[in-house]
Amino acid sequence: MSDLLSQARSAAEKAYAPYSKFQVGCAVETVAGKIYTGCNVENASYGLTVCAERNTLFQAVAAEGPGMKVARLSVICLGHEFPPCGACRQVIAEFSLPGGRTEVTFLQQGQPVTRTIAELLPEAFGL
Ligand SMILES: [Zn+2]
Repeated sequence: MSDLLSQARSAAEKAYAPYSKFQVGCAVETVAGKIYTGCNVENASYGLTVCAERNTLFQAVAAEGPGMKVARLSVICLGHEFPPCGACRQVIAEFSLPGGRTEVTFLQQGQPVTRTIAELLPEAFGL
């Protein structure tokens, strides 16, 4: 397992997921070479829940400022496998390398799969 995926797994163990029981962790490597990790945080008012990917990306912006760009992102859910949700794909696209070249890694049938954000979200919304 890649280092970034391992860090995502560690972050997942800290998730606050009493409702779905889906513990998700994320690790982001920025173009600046820094690594940030985060987990999902649920709420009794379900709509207030925030995914691990967005929590992590927002931490990276808070630390590096508005010019933060994501080189690579890994996401993992303990006991389950799935790629980032649609909302997170849009946020990843916002901070992607030019042309949607940011790499996103997740597990499928126990194996890491890497796709660019352009592959995961073709024709992302942009202003
Ligand atoms: Zn999400």
